[in-house]
Amino acid sequence: MKREAVWKDHTIIPERETLLENVTTEVAVIGAGMAGILTACFLQHHGKHVVVLEADRIGSGQTGNTTAKITIQHGFLYDTLIRTYGKKKAADYIRANQQALNLYEQFIKEKQIDCNFERLPSYLYSVEDRELLIKEASAVASLGVPSRLVSDTKLPFEHVGAVCIEDQAQLEPLRFLKEMSKELTIYEKTKVLSVSGHKITTDRAEVQAEYIVIATHYPIINLPGFYFMRQHQERSYVLALSGADRLHGMYYSADKDGISLRSFGDFLLIGGGAHRTGKLRGSCGYTALRQKAEKYYPTCKEEYCWSAQDCITHDNFPFIGRYSIFRPYWYVISGFKKWGMTSSMLAAMLISDEICGRKNPYRQLFSPQRIYPVAAAKNFFIDMGESIKGLSEGAMQIFSKETPRCSHMGCALQWNPQEKMWECPCHGSRFGEEGSLADNPAKYGIKHF
Ligand SMILES: Cc1cc2nc3c(=O)[nH]c(=O)nc-3n(C[C@H](O)[C@H](O)[C@H](O)COP(=O)(O)OP(=O)(O)OC[C@H]3O[C@@H](n4cnc5c(N)ncnc54)[C@H](O)[C@@H]3O)c2cc1C
Repeated sequence: MKREAVWKDHTIIPERETLLENVTTEVAVIGAGMAGILTACFLQHHGKHVVVLEADRIGSGQTGNTTAKITIQHGFLYDTLIRTYGKKKAADYIRANQQALNLYEQFIKEKQIDCNFERLPSYLYSVEDRELLIKEASAVASLGVPSRLVSDTKLPFEHVGAVCIEDQAQLEPLRFLKEMSKELTIYEKTKVLSVSGHKITTDRAEVQAEYIVIATHYPIINLPGFYFMRQHQERSYVLALSGADRLHGMYYSADKDGISLRSFGDFLLIGGGAHRTGKLRGSCGYTALRQKAEKYYPTCKEEYCWSAQDCITHDNFPFIGRYSIFRPYWYVISGFKKWGMTSSMLAAMLISDEICGRKNPYRQLFSPQRIYPVAAAKNFFIDMGESIKGLSEGAMQIFSKETPRCSHMGCALQWNPQEKMWECPCHGSRFGEEGSLADNPAKYGIKHF
């Protein structure tokens, strides 16, 4: 069994040079994941001179560990959106994501990208709450998108039905990224240490840019922006099994501890075990996911296992737009809530329109400067509570070496025994057993282990 994403075994993306000399460009994009690469492609297509700076390798972040379902069905969402924001905003959200989904197909056809792109139905199922599904099906239909409530699916366990939306898609993320990144100027192993005005300082050189797009998954600049107070990270786990029947569709659970499923070639990918980063419980992680895999697919074999995390905002919308009113030439892409495929394409559309001076009808909906509804207050207070707890525990540990502290803001780290990693429950940074940095927003490892 391999402890890496199945895509990594199937695609090798050629290495790029490290930035060793100072450069000047119109746009610098920081981060070569799905969001950064697509945004850079759009900007270059519109005639901008673009340079991409990547701390590690192209697609080495969350994008290399995604399950790459490209769908407008983002879990149990549209009933909540309509009730919280009204029909117009919910309809704009679904339309914007539909446009993003269609653009994948358009690029893949135009550029003849061989990345196993398939149009398939997407199912939101539940094992316990049919009422929830009825509400969601009617919410989606009221937004003008055909959807049906079905009872019969290919799931190997009992459930109370599923909301089906036809014509969604899945692909192989690294093969797609490999082709999309071919014509871009990308510097790998080039870590951005700071951004000040139009100057970016990397570990070996400096970049001067008219516009700067921060597509580092979790924003790496604390102030201005305050993104560390506006979202948290959630980790999920994936297994690739051999020996299962091929699924004609993608499945996602509306229940708290449910699993998601899709096929890739001869493999069945099962995702789940989610928890707030730094808060692994017995009912989460690989242990919980493996129990389900063994129960539902007892004859199958685990071939790969991996995990990843994503940023969860307080109001269900990602942050796509100006980083802060104090830096109108900086842009941010973050907060995808595990729906980063359509959201990355959306980000590329929105940010390239902003930089090229074109109006985009969805600008305000995803703007990081939007006003939050009262309903988002609960999530804000939960995240604040976690941060205060983590920071005060961290402060008490200053003179002790028993519990290490995060290099981001000093919060006390928690041990994840299933992954053998130190994790920050406040903002989601992660470190190896010896203190090496694995996930941002921290920019450095921890030396005093
Ligand atoms: C288990 C799991 C399954 C998922 N499945 C789906 C799915 O089926 N469908 C879907 O729509 N979404 C899914 N998602 C969400 C999706 O994978 C992510 O939202 C998306 O990949 C994020 O892309 P990104 O470009 O923002 O981030 P990343 O891919 O993480 O890219 C950010 C890049 O920035 C670089 N970077 C960071 N700091 C610096 C620095 N200081 N200097 C330079 N570079 C830096 C990193 O190395 C990285 O390469 C899933 C998420 C998880 C956790």
